[in-house]
Amino acid sequence: MTTKFDFDLFTIGAGSGGVAASRRAASYGPRVAICESSRVGGTCVIRGCVPKKLLMYGGQFRDAFEDAVGFGWGSTVPGFDWARLVANKDREIDRLNQIYIRMLEQAGVALFPEHGRLIDAHTIEVGSRRFTAETILIATGGWPTKPAIPGIEHAITSNEAFHLERLPERMIILGGGYIAVEFACIFRGLGVAVEMILRGPGILNGFDDDCRTFLADEMRKRGIVIHTATRPAAIERGDRDYAVIGADGRRFPTDLVMAALGRAPNSRGIGLEQAGVKLDDNGAVEVDGWSRTAVANIYAVGDVTDRVALTPVAIAEGRALAETLYNGNPIEVDYRNIPSAVFASPPLATVGLTEATARRDHGAIDVYRSSFRPMKNTLSGRDERTLVKLVVERASDRVLGAQMVGVDAPEIIQGLAIALNCGATKRQFDRTIGLHPSAAEEFVTLREKLPDPA
Ligand code: NDP
Repeated sequence: MTTKFDFDLFTIGAGSGGVAASRRAASYGPRVAICESSRVGGTCVIRGCVPKKLLMYGGQFRDAFEDAVGFGWGSTVPGFDWARLVANKDREIDRLNQIYIRMLEQAGVALFPEHGRLIDAHTIEVGSRRFTAETILIATGGWPTKPAIPGIEHAITSNEAFHLERLPERMIILGGGYIAVEFACIFRGLGVAVEMILRGPGILNGFDDDCRTFLADEMRKRGIVIHTATRPAAIERGDRDYAVIGADGRRFPTDLVMAALGRAPNSRGIGLEQAGVKLDDNGAVEVDGWSRTAVANIYAVGDVTDRVALTPVAIAEGRALAETLYNGNPIEVDYRNIPSAVFASPPLATVGLTEATARRDHGAIDVYRSSFRPMKNTLSGRDERTLVKLVVERASDRVLGAQMVGVDAPEIIQGLAIALNCGATKRQFDRTIGLHPSAAEEFVTLREKLPDPA
């Protein structure tokens, strides 16, 4: 390794992607440093996936208490203490934050808990100090956006939703993407009267249409009110509450407004343009398949590149980069068949292509779909169904996509992602013996093709 620079690799941003790249790189010998202006762990650990899932578990107990009655348990639902849930969740986030710091220390990565900024292509300013590095990695993630709607300053984002002092009685969530849907289900589970306001025709634009409709119906059954085709035009603050004003003039009074209107790359104020790094119109760092920016020694991974904004993708990009640069093992990340889940109630999980994308890109396809009442709901009496769906290329019999809405969907789809990555055919699904009794076995017993659309 060179000695001309203070470090061989300097990473800006200690979230999932930055930490993964830095640790893996350091394991091969280079001198690695990382800086972080917020808390080590990034969006996923501090204000995203992890606290979200902990709150989701909190909300699910309502179902468990209700369902238990049909299985012989008493019907008294114990009281709920939001402050205790938040404190316990914060304690767990603190623990993970410390683990991340320790992992960096053990890997020999120098950690600077300060804002980092590029001065030029090889110089980083961290707080009041300057360091040089042969290679620089930008892993600064993303941040919730707030479009220029009058009164938008009255809306919280997911960042603040994790730290509410008390639960509101009523809440309006603007948007219909991952974050809007997950928080709508979390807060509904905790007893809040939730309304969603979205500009499109339905939740989760880009997901499989059957799954979107199915999940929206299940959310409505739980009492979540979904106002579609409603563009939020303004937010007004009253003496005791707020009101969202729709573009059609409709007024939606509420106690709390949360904006879940997308996230933007964290690419401003870190000297990227001045160092020659190119950004696209949305502020995402432009990179090639090797995560290299327009400047040969500067790389970027994770949400700041706006490729696929998911933690495991950022980690894969970070590790691929470290392997390529420091282990003589060039890896380009494969973006096909990335599984993902929306942790709604019930959850939606997907891998591969939606029916619409498969039809567009693969011509003739066969679609298999089944919806059923999960066994647990026979005794619980819960009015909730499960949907499973396979999309198959007709010519090759290859399974192009698997979708599920229902309890355990994320756990099931992760396994199917391996099958899809191995190029599994529908015949191989059919030859697999089911695990009985389970919801997962429905994926190997799908017989009836849907008729082709007219
Ligand atoms: P999304 O892009 O998923 O959703 C944004 C929502 O806001 C859409 O409904 C969009 O409408 C709407 N919207 C955007 N701008 C406006 C506007 N000006 N007026 C009205 N509506 C608007 O973003 P999220 O913030 O929910 O999530 C960001 C990313 O984070 C996701 O793409 C995902 O990659 C990641 N994520 C993943 C999770 C997981 O894996 N479980 C959980 C949470 C986040 P329209 O659809 O019409 O464009």
